[in-house]
Amino acid sequence: MSAEFGKYNASLHRAHQLANDFLDTLDTGAAGVTKSYEELIIEWEQELPRDGTNPEDVIADIAKAAAPGLMRNQSGRFFSWVIGGTHPSALGADWLTSAWNQNSGMFTVAPAASIAEEIAGKWLKQLLHLSSEASFAFVTGCQMAHFTCLSAARNHIFHEAGWDIETQGFYGAPAIKVICSDQKHVTVNRALRMLGFGTNIMTQVRTDASGRIDADDFAAAMAKDSGLPTLVLLQAGDLNTGAYDDFQKIIPIARNYNSWVHVDGAFGLWASASKKYKHLTAGIELADSWATDGHKWLNVPYDCGYAFTAHPEAHRRAMSQPASYLTHKSQSRDQMDWNPEFSRRGRGFATYAVIRELGINGIEALIDRTCQHAHTIVEEAGKLDHVEIVAMPIINQGLLRFHDPNSTSQADHDQYTEEIIHKINVTGEAFFQPTTYKGKRCMRVSVSGWRTNEEDVRRTVEAIRKALADDFVG
Ligand SMILES: *Cc1c(COP(=O)(O)O)cnc(C)c1O
Repeated sequence: MSAEFGKYNASLHRAHQLANDFLDTLDTGAAGVTKSYEELIIEWEQELPRDGTNPEDVIADIAKAAAPGLMRNQSGRFFSWVIGGTHPSALGADWLTSAWNQNSGMFTVAPAASIAEEIAGKWLKQLLHLSSEASFAFVTGCQMAHFTCLSAARNHIFHEAGWDIETQGFYGAPAIKVICSDQKHVTVNRALRMLGFGTNIMTQVRTDASGRIDADDFAAAMAKDSGLPTLVLLQAGDLNTGAYDDFQKIIPIARNYNSWVHVDGAFGLWASASKKYKHLTAGIELADSWATDGHKWLNVPYDCGYAFTAHPEAHRRAMSQPASYLTHKSQSRDQMDWNPEFSRRGRGFATYAVIRELGINGIEALIDRTCQHAHTIVEEAGKLDHVEIVAMPIINQGLLRFHDPNSTSQADHDQYTEEIIHKINVTGEAFFQPTTYKGKRCMRVSVSGWRTNEEDVRRTVEAIRKALADDFVG
């Protein structure tokens, strides 16, 4: 064994042990972190080192410093935000991705990485029932999937108007308009900012009580300044309620005008992979682009998102940038023609692994099971006194609100909801986050992890019951 190999071996061996130690605490350790910034930073703070340290010891020190600040978001009782776990094959593939360390921007630089993405991308389109002709990119998350899709949209819209946005930019460009729902995710704002549109360009259309865009308001917004090319931003899976816009109704309205329809399906697009929930995405194939995540519902390790477009030419025009020192091969996939990154991680391996591990049936079971668990938690907790069900899960997202037994004021219920969430979280039994939905403070019940099982659901409902009961004692 060479000295260099010996160092890798020792470092990886130690990392493997420490990773196992952590994974072994997913069921027993606290689901979430409730320690403060001050308590956590002392674990890390030290003078900038003048001399180096043996790699194995660095690994051990990092694991020790990180331990109190590690969320067990991969546990079965973590219901905050929309955060998945990681399937075993994907974790293994992700380790190999690091060990191989391929610069996965193009085929000539990293052939295996290019092919893994080509195949995994084809499979994703089949799983999500998107056209086999759709272009795609593996990016860091849904945020960058929006950016990628909307770059393609921007190229297409201005190209149709006789304007090459890639070379001419926005100075003197023709006007366009942007229509979205008032429940759009904040990553849409950021994508519009990064692409130079700014956020003032958005016309926000009203949504109904469940969070679906109002078709009449939408039609009216489309009809206004109807001569302008329009970028339409719809949602498949609202983060609070899991609501889906009515694609069958809305997209045909948009089609009466010169428009590009983009769908934010960060997690919700995965309903397409389930026979039981597929009806929610009916008509979604009529859109021009779709953004989703691997690291949420598919349980691929961070970071992983997917962008798809129905306009490969526009997508490619928006991203490709020839360089004299790079050789493109005609039959193979060069990710930099589709991705905003240049040098990048080999994102296809972990996705390929999960799809192999689960198959079509396993992915469908994952979707159905997590939806069922979300439903049970909301339904069972909803039977307790002083609990209001604000949103019964349509898919894997629901909302609960806790009513202060000593008050009828909405502001007190807001405060009380926060207090109950805190009470649950400090027990470590489950981990939830608040949100404000249509003016009401609520607790989100978001079930994305593959490991959540019936015992986790039982323990969680019990933790909610106890938090409420303890309160009545005090
Ligand atoms: C999480 C989420 C996003 C952003 O996805 P990232 O993977 O965090 O970039 C966008 N839209 C919705 C609806 C989401 O839930």
